[in-house]
Amino acid sequence: MALPDILDRCPKCDRPRFNRPHTCTTPWEVRDLEEDGGEWTLLYEPTAEDAAARFVAEDNAACSEYTTWRTVAVRRFGETAEAVAYEVELEMTPIYTARRARNQEIINREN
Ligand SMILES: [Zn+2]
Repeated sequence: MALPDILDRCPKCDRPRFNRPHTCTTPWEVRDLEEDGGEWTLLYEPTAEDAAARFVAEDNAACSEYTTWRTVAVRRFGETAEAVAYEVELEMTPIYTARRARNQEIINREN
């Protein structure tokens, strides 16, 4: 069962508001350049780089497929500024998890 979201998120940019006055971060539009006719996705992030990285992270999570290198286009939302291409690289990091060993007899072998 999922825990309820207690952070009071902004319905527009999805950032925590903590029940205080809030200013949304910068709106960007991001599109996958490797997908023909890919639609622009609106994302609120501080920088174009953050928007590009979040776009790829959310797309990877949605299809459970982890591409390590993607090229996307980013443009400021609501402006006529030209889109800029960004290369997004995914770096896999190892996760180490310790569990109590089932066989504790192994300890005696050391002595
Ligand atoms: Zn907001």
